[in-house]
Amino acid sequence: MAQKQEPVVAIYPGSFDPITSGHLDVIERGSRLFDRLIVAILGNEAKSPLFSLAERMEMLSEAVAPFPNVQVDCFEGLLADYALRKGARGILRGIRAISDYEYELQMALMNRRLQPHLETIFLPAGEQYSFVSSRLVKEVARLGGDITGLVPPPVERRLRARWAPHGDQAKKDNQKK
Ligand code: ADP
Repeated sequence: MAQKQEPVVAIYPGSFDPITSGHLDVIERGSRLFDRLIVAILGNEAKSPLFSLAERMEMLSEAVAPFPNVQVDCFEGLLADYALRKGARGILRGIRAISDYEYELQMALMNRRLQPHLETIFLPAGEQYSFVSSRLVKEVARLGGDITGLVPPPVERRLRARWAPHGDQAKKDNQKK
């Protein structure tokens, strides 16, 4: 008799400040590999993000709406503990270049040491997005460059508003002067 299999849950953790088309490509491909994929924002404000946790949650939720088995969540503390609480067996991470791999490998091994049944699955970045990072997209947007296609359209609008002459961030910057 065939045994009933447990649904395979995986976590895709990150800062997502903001979500890019590269992240979304990993999410779409990951959604086909697992029964349930939880995109989890690390609520660690030490990185002084451009977008608040609430804004990042909103942008992610909008972007993953087409994928019914993908959920958005946030967490603090150890990823391995969070994964255990969620009953996840896998951690999904994207690799753009060898430079990503060194750090990602360390993290994967540490997480497996903390939770021996937790496996990290690396997906190679989509080749058209392998140069895309949240950091670079923010920088180009701040300097007025074209970021069409590098982030989902609602994120592009938010980034433009943030750096528009009368946007929130521009106001803050002017107050600092
Ligand atoms: P972190 O702060 O944990 O690096 P990020 O939000 O920058 O979080 O990235 C989350 C994950 O997505 C990481 O595994 C990162 O390597 C991967 N990633 C980032 N950008 C891309 C991209 N353009 N294509 C594929 N994977 C990516």
